Amino acid sequence: MKDDSERLQSVKGMYDLLPPDSLRLREVERIGHEVLRRYGYVEVRTPVVEYTTLFSRSIGDATDIVEKEMYTFTDRDERSITMRPEGTAGAVRAYVEHAIHKADPVSRWYYLGPMFRHERWQRGRYRQFHQLGVEVFGVADPGADAEVMALVVDLARAFGLEELELKVNTLGCAECRPAYRAGLVAFLEPRRELLCEDCQRRFGHNPLRVLDCKQERCRALSLEAPSPVEHACEGCAAHWQGVLADLRALEVACEVDARLVRGLDYYSRTTFELVSHGGQLGSQNTLAGGGRYDGLVGQLGGPPTPAVGFAMGLERLLLALPEDRPALASLAQVVFVTRGEPARRAALPMVQALRSRGIAVELDHRGMSVKSQMKRADRVGCSVVVLVGEDELQREVVTVRRMATSTQEEVPVVELAARIDGLLRTS
Ligand code: AMP
Repeated sequence: MKDDSERLQSVKGMYDLLPPDSLRLREVERIGHEVLRRYGYVEVRTPVVEYTTLFSRSIGDATDIVEKEMYTFTDRDERSITMRPEGTAGAVRAYVEHAIHKADPVSRWYYLGPMFRHERWQRGRYRQFHQLGVEVFGVADPGADAEVMALVVDLARAFGLEELELKVNTLGCAECRPAYRAGLVAFLEPRRELLCEDCQRRFGHNPLRVLDCKQERCRALSLEAPSPVEHACEGCAAHWQGVLADLRALEVACEVDARLVRGLDYYSRTTFELVSHGGQLGSQNTLAGGGRYDGLVGQLGGPPTPAVGFAMGLERLLLALPEDRPALASLAQVVFVTRGEPARRAALPMVQALRSRGIAVELDHRGMSVKSQMKRADRVGCSVVVLVGEDELQREVVTVRRMATSTQEEVPVVELAARIDGLLRTS
């Protein structure tokens, strides 16, 4: 095997987040925190590594993630450690470990951070990527499913996305899934040769995955296959009707997609995906995926606790966004252009005074010409330029230029901060 590690490049499939993308991501995160606050969700931060068994026991041994995508290593204590491939397992582990249910019967959590999967990388699919995810613990009722779906759509809209499609499905529960699975196997068994190689291989342990296989041959077959809702038990059918009724009341449009299975084993009843038809996403157009996982808390050693949640990929979101949105809010609002070293030094207290008012300011320290400094101001896209020259300083004034209107005026140094504050407020 060729050794890439000598070449001092980023690890394959991982990327550096540089400006302006880092700023766009930050803006997306800011909006995310704000929308989640409105829904009453609180942030949790769990470690980026966990013991490997957590993932094999929760995500499932027969899933692509656990079978072939995890970054797993042995640490110095000879323990098997895995870089988290998703956020739910860690959140559930923390929920159980800290016996959160004792303090509060209902918890609305969210997390935001990097995840790691050794996948075949391409545009929109990376080996380190960011997810924003939510988990609602303690609510078995369909209202929680509908709430998190309304939230995922609201988040995407707040980020500026428009061409969205919410796909929903029900997978049944431990009671009715076996009958559905048996019905599906009975349908697929005589047609096994028609399946793609991957599906033929996983048919034995995970026949449901055939339903969301992207290969044309499997898709054609799955269209004729029995759907889970036809096999739903009374409880699952009532839950499903409740979810659809709440979505209607919340005015969230959705498309029922009986093939929606998702790649993780822990889902029960509701599953959903948010797809974007805009931007530069191409085939990787699933922005978020989620569902109900009523068995997972119990499976990981906690008391039986219903739960529902989703995870949204932030890189996909950035690709789906029009280039100019969200705006580069963090770049300098004001650029100082100074003529000569004494003017630069005299500008320093003015710069600090503006910064202490929360205004983003930049100034050049390299003794560049006024022309170059003006060019830079243009590139940064600031609203205001403050020109500081020695003669004006003698009179204790500076020149303030509004970039949008190309108008300028002299302002006494003592009034500068208040003047700029006012200008930024009205621009
Ligand atoms: P999952 O955890 O597989 O249900 O994925 C939820 C969301 O995370 C997806 O809809 C994507 O937006 C995002 N995602 C999953 N895997 C990747 C990846 N390898 N690269 C970028 N985004 C991803």
